[in-house]
Amino acid sequence: MIQAQNINHIGIAVRSLEDQRTFYEGVLGARFEGAEEVSDQGVRVAFYVLGTSGHEVRLELLEPTKADSPIAKYIEKNGEGMHHVAYTVTDIESRLRELRDAGIRLIDETPRKGAHGAKIAFLHPKASNGVLTELCEPAHAHA
Ligand code: ZN
Repeated sequence: MIQAQNINHIGIAVRSLEDQRTFYEGVLGARFEGAEEVSDQGVRVAFYVLGTSGHEVRLELLEPTKADSPIAKYIEKNGEGMHHVAYTVTDIESRLRELRDAGIRLIDETPRKGAHGAKIAFLHPKASNGVLTELCEPAHAHA
């Protein structure tokens, strides 16, 4: 068991980060936290935060930067929308080893680098009943 902590963020696939500002800021009233490019994954991500300190909900908008990136392919197939749920974990390498030993299918056998220097890894959607599931160990995680 990976003992997932809180939901770290919800990932949403979009064609254009810029086009989303009206909805996330203007309609939801979320605070724009910043954007960065994660070149490994061929995406630019923008984070929005809702809620008060200690009870924040974070949304990760993902915009493809390359036509052959996984997010570009996802949008091509499914359109824009819900992409993944990310759970905060500690010691992601051990968690992945436990999952692998338990026969759970993984997309990432070893963590890769996500936004904000976090270590992330995806489970195979078939292993999580159709919900693409990300494990996320924040760079400044305290256990
Ligand atoms: Zn994510």
